[in-house]
Amino acid sequence: MATIGKLSATFADNLKLDASHTENVESAWGGPLALPPGTSGEKFAKFLAGVGDVCGKSEITLVSSQDQLKGGWYLEQSKVHDMHSIYDEDFFVASAVVTPSSVPQVQALVRLANEYEIPLWPISIGRNVGYGGAAPRVRGSVVVDMGKNMNKVLSVDEDSASCLLEPGVTYSELYDYLIEHNLHEKLWIDVPDLGGGSVVGNCLDRGVGYTPYGDHFMMHCGMEIVLPNGELYRTGMGAMPDPTQPGFDPDAPLHEQPPNKCWQLFNYGFGPYLDGIFTQSSLGIVTKMGMWLMPNPGGFQSYLVTVPNEEDLHPLVETIRPLRLQNILPNVPTIRYITLDAAVLGHKKQYVSYEGPITEEDKRAIEKKLQLGRWNFYGAVYGPPVIRDAMLSVVKEAFLKIPGAKFLLPEDMKENSVLHIRSKTLRGIPTYDELNWLDWEPNGVHLFFAPISKVSGDDAMKQYEVSKRRFEEAGMDFIGTFTVGMREMHHIVSVVFPRGNPKKRDRAVWLIRTLIDDCAKHGWGEYRTHIGLMDQIQGTYSFNDNIQRKLNETIKNAIDPKGILAPGKSGIWPSKYDKKQWVLDSKVEKKF
Ligand code: ADP
Repeated sequence: MATIGKLSATFADNLKLDASHTENVESAWGGPLALPPGTSGEKFAKFLAGVGDVCGKSEITLVSSQDQLKGGWYLEQSKVHDMHSIYDEDFFVASAVVTPSSVPQVQALVRLANEYEIPLWPISIGRNVGYGGAAPRVRGSVVVDMGKNMNKVLSVDEDSASCLLEPGVTYSELYDYLIEHNLHEKLWIDVPDLGGGSVVGNCLDRGVGYTPYGDHFMMHCGMEIVLPNGELYRTGMGAMPDPTQPGFDPDAPLHEQPPNKCWQLFNYGFGPYLDGIFTQSSLGIVTKMGMWLMPNPGGFQSYLVTVPNEEDLHPLVETIRPLRLQNILPNVPTIRYITLDAAVLGHKKQYVSYEGPITEEDKRAIEKKLQLGRWNFYGAVYGPPVIRDAMLSVVKEAFLKIPGAKFLLPEDMKENSVLHIRSKTLRGIPTYDELNWLDWEPNGVHLFFAPISKVSGDDAMKQYEVSKRRFEEAGMDFIGTFTVGMREMHHIVSVVFPRGNPKKRDRAVWLIRTLIDDCAKHGWGEYRTHIGLMDQIQGTYSFNDNIQRKLNETIKNAIDPKGILAPGKSGIWPSKYDKKQWVLDSKVEKKF
């Protein structure tokens, strides 16, 4: 990929950088590694000069050197490319990163992007591990890092158990905020597997957690959004001014208007409900979001049910479905395959000394060592002791009908167990332990494959068998978990391979692209995906000649005619982009 060395002088002149801007001056002299498509260096430099006037020059980082694409890991995430790259490292790369500090700055930034026709890629924290991290879909986009400076817990309503957040608030920070304000016993949060993500960003990508509040989009309430033309919109009850609120002034700037008192209480407001079109989408930059918090239910009790054999997945899921529908399983429990728990507790080489899928015999040895089954079901009951005891006895009786099943509480397990880690997650305490499975292979890179399935023994077995067969063909370990929603399961499968090994990377890409097609043949679609796979997955949602994509593109072109916001996100391309050039080929040759 060519750099644009000759541009240097003009670039710096236009940016009006001087030596006092030591943070950025060095990189600015060289111009970016990748310019936005169809943009000259001069035009880009003028755009950045405008951005510097709006946000401050020190809030711009230019991506000008391959060195910026090195290093980084979950806690020190790269904001400029995908650290878990499935193409070359500089394939999905930003031209610059901008860190606005206020709503008016975001509005001005969007207006400038329209003027210069520069693609923007908004992120909140940019961890988004397994789905592309902070990297933009279009090479050379400007990443808008909403998390660095816009990271406040704006309010917590104790009475109604809700909060209003800026994009940069992570799960760990929200949890710490509740502790600092002595609210943590009263109000619980829901966390995904890792605590370092943005509450807003995770919800916008429709991530899940594991308490009864595990469906994050269901639990959000109200968004504030900068639209692609720079206008400010508040969804739901936020659309109604509230003159009763302290500080209300009809003449004050919109972003300073105190919001309607019901904004975080009632999701739908009046008229067509639009919040959904801002998730997994390219239609706005979210500047605030309301979330419901979980009132302390009176305590909780986590537990583990292990079953010994592969095929026990069938009765396990059949047992789960009625209990989940009846809310006797009130949260989002998980059914984890043995390799996932093994990977949380150790590296592959600590268990076996060979490459390739772990043998049946060695899986048995691992199960014995870790006190686990082939499938391990992590659940919890919530409520005061009398309710928990009653629910637990129903749960225990139901699961123990499966031959060979064991029911275990945390005190039955060794201190260093996945049940102890899951117990925190099931209570809404952020953790980072699940990061360990990245090191299943040394220096591991991973991407998620995440199809939806019915909560049925037949479907779960079939989906598992289809996946496992392809993993075996690729010579890789199947590592997966079924997370059980209210009426479906997200089957989250981790494809882990070592960094810097193109052969293994090619295998991983073959595996996931083949699985997407395999699953589509069974009517199973993915709920979320890596930026490199979005076109293929959008293509599988093909009812009525892909009307879903066409409708989304109609909306996209209407409200973002210059196609400046997140082009290509979820396989939705603005008309400005020629799909023949931009859609990634999903056909992969099997080279092994
Ligand atoms: P994480 O919480 O895992 O760090 P990100 O911040 O990377 O998540 O966000 C995940 C995805 O959600 C992004 O790639 C982007 O598509 C979308 N997103 C995140 N924050 C915003 C935002 N403030 N406005 C619009 N879209 C956003």
